[in-house]
Formats: sequence, C-alpha cells, structure tokens
Amino acid sequence: MKKIIFFLLIGFYVIGCQPKQNSSSKPENSDDFSFVFMTDIHLTEKRNAREGFLQAIDTINSLSPDFVLTGGDNIMDALGQTYERSDSLYNLYQETIKNLNMPIYHSMGNHEVFGLYKSSGISPDHEEYGKKLYENRLAKRYYSFDHKNWHFVVLDGIGFTDKRRYYGKVDEEQIEWLKKDLAKAGKKPIAVSIHIPLLSIGSQIMKGPNEGMGKGEIISNANEVIAILEQHNTKLVLQGHLHFLEDIQYNGIHYITGGAVSSQWWQGKRYGMEEGFLKIDVCGKDFTWEYIDFGWVPETES
Ligand SMILES: [Zn+2]
Repeated sequence: MKKIIFFLLIGFYVIGCQPKQNSSSKPENSDDFSFVFMTDIHLTEKRNAREGFLQAIDTINSLSPDFVLTGGDNIMDALGQTYERSDSLYNLYQETIKNLNMPIYHSMGNHEVFGLYKSSGISPDHEEYGKKLYENRLAKRYYSFDHKNWHFVVLDGIGFTDKRRYYGKVDEEQIEWLKKDLAKAGKKPIAVSIHIPLLSIGSQIMKGPNEGMGKGEIISNANEVIAILEQHNTKLVLQGHLHFLEDIQYNGIHYITGGAVSSQWWQGKRYGMEEGFLKIDVCGKDFTWEYIDFGWVPETES
C-alpha cells in the first residue's frame, strides 16, 4: 500500500534546496530560477483592494522572480455581472498588472467566467459569454510553456452545469491534450497550475474531520487527472480557490494550495493566514517554497 504523507505548513518548506540568506538574491546555477504563484486576488474597487494588490506587486518586484503565475480569481467578479461591470474589472486588472516588472502567466478562476449565473441577465449567445471574455483579455483557458529546464502546464478546472453554475472539472478535450503535452515534456520536471484543487484537506480543517468537498470546491475527476500526472515527472501542482495554505505530498507530487493575495477577500486574516503569495525557488529538479506576507493591513482590521 502506498504511503500517504500530509504536510500542513504555514511558513517554509524545504525539500532539496537550501533556504537563501537573502530571498531576493538570484540563484547561482544558471538553470535555477524563482517564480511567484499568486492566487485569489479578487480585485475590486472596494475595500482598498487595488492598493493592497499594488502593495503585493511592489513586494514581488523587490523579489525579482523570473515570472509570475496566477492561480485564478484575479477579479471579483464576472460570474453574475453585466458586461459593463465585468469589462471595467478586467480593465482595472489589466491596468494594475502593468506595474509588474516581469512576465505574467494566467490561470482562469471561476470568478473570471463571464455571465454564467442567470442573475447576470447575460444570454449564452453573447459573443464573449463564459470563458471567451477571459480568453480575449488574459490567456487561453489551458496551455503549457517551458521555463529553463521545467515544463509548466496551466489547466482550466471550471465546468458548467445545465443550470448555469460552475463545478470542478477538467474536460475531455484537456485530458487528451494533457496526455500528449506531458509525453512531449519528456523527463523535464513538471509544474501544473489549476484554480480548483485536485487534492486538499481544506474541508477537514475548515468544516470538520468528517466533512467532504462540495462540487464547486474540488475537481470532480481529479483521480483521472492525477493518474496522468503520476505517469510523468510531475513535481508540483499549484492550486487556488480555497484561500487556504497547505502542502500535501502524495505519490511524489506536492499539491500546494497557495493561500490568497486577498486572504479573507481583503477583510483580514483567514484561519490565521495573512494576505500573501508563494515564492518558489527552483534548484535543478527540486524546489523550495515560502509564503510571503506582503504586509497589507485591511481597513476593516482593528
Ligand atoms: Zn475560485
């Protein structure tokens, strides 16, 4: 029977690299690099969220990672909103990320989906309905890229129900693409980004030991996706959505839910977790991670 090892760490985790004295220093080996994973920004014009996001961006710039990868829910939100409201939030987001000094790659969250909720009044016939607005503005819903010796895969884990709600699902089109894409990656270490988690202990902690995940909280066909990832050199799965910080090691893969830039939706700490993001230092085929608290104090916190 395979061993299951759970780690729940708030702070710092090391598997092969040594922690740096100065976290902004560049790695010495030319194949080594660092990147930032920031998730659940939930940018809105309320709660001083833009100022908070700019503070996170300043901190990221000071750390000089090679690139930034988002975990989705960049805006709050487009699901149940008019086109004008959704458009203005995408514009606010796109304007704000211009302050980053390095490239940014995006993953799509449920809150980027335009007009899915019937309450939006948007018809599915709208030319930018659903994931099209996101794809026109930020990125393809799924894709891959290489950085140095690592292969990065961004998956879309947002399925739609017949009743126009979302649930966690990686569709068949992506499953077929993923098999081919990972085969092409060969022996390269692989990192995956997906908004809704493939694996999490969040419900045990936040709801109770006997509670499971709802359909909107976990990928419903996670077993199918994980079975594919385990056939390749997958090292890391970066997840968002739960505003929860955890690192689960299972069958050699780390499933890290990366906290939230907005923590409790810009209203303070969540389960003791500050507003923050992950800085990941890659050393050869290994990595270390650190949750960076960028020092935001929300206006509602006394
Ligand atoms: Zn989400």
